[in-house]
Amino acid sequence: MNSATHSGTHGHVQVKSLDVALGKGASRFTAVRQLSVDIPAGQFVCILGPSGCGKSTLLGAVAGHLPAAAGEILLDGETVHGPAPERGLVFQQHTLFPWKRVVDNVAFGLKMRGVAPAARKRQALDLLELVGLKGFAHRYPAELSGGMQQRVEIARVLINRPRVLLMDEPFGALDAQTRAHMQALLLDVWTELRTTVVFVTHDVDEALFLGDRVLVMSQRPGRILEDIQVPFPRPRRAALLTDYAFVHLKRHCRELMRDGYQGGPLQPFSRPAASAAALAD
Ligand code: ADP
Ligand code: MG
Repeated sequence: MNSATHSGTHGHVQVKSLDVALGKGASRFTAVRQLSVDIPAGQFVCILGPSGCGKSTLLGAVAGHLPAAAGEILLDGETVHGPAPERGLVFQQHTLFPWKRVVDNVAFGLKMRGVAPAARKRQALDLLELVGLKGFAHRYPAELSGGMQQRVEIARVLINRPRVLLMDEPFGALDAQTRAHMQALLLDVWTELRTTVVFVTHDVDEALFLGDRVLVMSQRPGRILEDIQVPFPRPRRAALLTDYAFVHLKRHCRELMRDGYQGGPLQPFSRPAASAAALAD
């Protein structure tokens, strides 16, 4: 795979009948079972589910950190075997080098690939501008706020021009205001780059605000309970969160996620009138 050929047509993720097992010996168990999903290039997909349902396990398998016990994962038709920069992963905690300046942290992936200093610095500065940190290139990570550190982390991953950006609760440690700001920034970045994004969260608001599509996962072993096409137009603004249709869909997602729910009859989201009729019965 040649990163120079990267374009918006790359980033097609296929997960086929995937099982992922965790633990060793007698305590080994299946954390993700028979999970299949097809994610077209450029789509923004959120994986939503209660804590412990297997979201990180699924993302770890797509990243290539966890092997498939059954089934397979393909990126642009090629089977995933192990981690690669084309599948960039962002966690809740950043992985920046504390002793390197921001610009050198962002440029690090290019340094590893042997890109010349001037070229990698230029690309790093461009990405820092994209994430709103133009004036902070020469700071050290410890001199930045948590939200700014996560912006550097995103730039650090994006410099590898990943075909798919994998994000595991990346804003989970931030305060509510910073988190909302980061969500808006991520949408701006995605609008600019159109990289496929697979974003894991247990926060319904976050999933519905960000995603083109939300995959709701069941309790362990994780499988997909519902594949929701999010109908809200873009660009999305904070006012969307109090919109009637948003709140209605949010309630539906919460029902899906409620404790102990293992699938079975629920009013489908697309038929709010039907649920009103059911209440009247
Ligand atoms: P989520 O990200 O949805 O909160 P995870 O994918 O981290 O869930 O974990 C799924 C389940 O597997 C949880 O019950 C968790 O406790 C368990 N688990 C996670 N990692 C390991 C591991 N390395 N060994 C054993 N069990 C694990
Ligand atoms: Mg997790």
